[in-house]
Amino acid sequence: MKVELFNKKNKKDLVSQLRSESFDRITISFYKYINIDNIEILRDYLYFKWTKLKVLGRVYIANEGINAQLSLPKHNLDPFLKQLKQNEDFNDLKIKKALIEGESFYKLNIKIKNEIVAYKIPKNEYDMNIVGKHFDYKDFNDAIDDGATVIDIRNYYEGEVGRFQNAIVPDIDRSEDLLPEIKKLLKGKESKQILMYCTGGIRCEKASSYLIKNGFKNVNQLDGGIIKYANDIKKNKVKSKFLGKNFVFDNRLGENITNDIISNCHQCNKLSNSHKNCNNSSCHILFIQCDNCEIKYRGSCSEKCMNFNKLDEQDQKKFLKNKEVIFNGTNSDRLRPKINNIFK
Ligand SMILES: [Zn+2]
Ligand SMILES: [Zn+2]
Repeated sequence: MKVELFNKKNKKDLVSQLRSESFDRITISFYKYINIDNIEILRDYLYFKWTKLKVLGRVYIANEGINAQLSLPKHNLDPFLKQLKQNEDFNDLKIKKALIEGESFYKLNIKIKNEIVAYKIPKNEYDMNIVGKHFDYKDFNDAIDDGATVIDIRNYYEGEVGRFQNAIVPDIDRSEDLLPEIKKLLKGKESKQILMYCTGGIRCEKASSYLIKNGFKNVNQLDGGIIKYANDIKKNKVKSKFLGKNFVFDNRLGENITNDIISNCHQCNKLSNSHKNCNNSSCHILFIQCDNCEIKYRGSCSEKCMNFNKLDEQDQKKFLKNKEVIFNGTNSDRLRPKINNIFK
């Protein structure tokens, strides 16, 4: 069988193909920091093997390791794991399953990157052989009760809809701004017990190494991130200290860990935790929109985007060509909430 090494179908076709499937899918994720020399060969190999198993998802491969978020047919999980673990570098992988299923991915995308998390910090600022201690859900909960400092190792818009009680949430939008910001926020707490968490654990690995290199003495990270925590507390019937929604970078945009809604609609300020991308494709900003505002603004982030969407294609092109209009998404990666009373 000949397998193309890239996807050639448009999104509409991919979605209808996915919906016509007669089997259930499962969403999983894993990562590993490991030296990989032949990243192109590994990419082509995985693409070839995984396409045959109908695997969809987003994968980053770099010389420092692999980070994968995948959706695959339930009946292919065992063959998939067996095949993956044939590679001895991967036989100790920890696979995390999503808490709530949904249409997570429409295609398989394996990208070669410089880093598996784009922190863009120099190599002498961390040492992946020395990382923070891994805490399971129980250690993590106990340490919170003992008054440790909890810090969210994600972007602001992720912590906005769900976070651990009393966590410090850095006000940044891009991974490359995160490490200098957390160092600043934790200044003076070098001897204190620090608890870090992120979605699946990968961002804490390097971030914890960075903090240790920067003089922090008691650095700990939530093993397997919020995804594993959510599964563990459910299994062990323990009350969650994480409130709200776990933001995820696939088409589901989030899974509820608890039913608490801790964020507000960016347009009317009513409680809402529904992230959307503005449906003006020239804007596409990520923002929180309640159901009422979705109707009122027709899925747009602003009146400007809504009015633009009403124009016919010719007029839209004219506007864009003459740069007569600047959309929210043109300036920033997210729309700021009108009232930010959550962290202050
Ligand atoms: Zn609203
Ligand atoms: Zn917009």
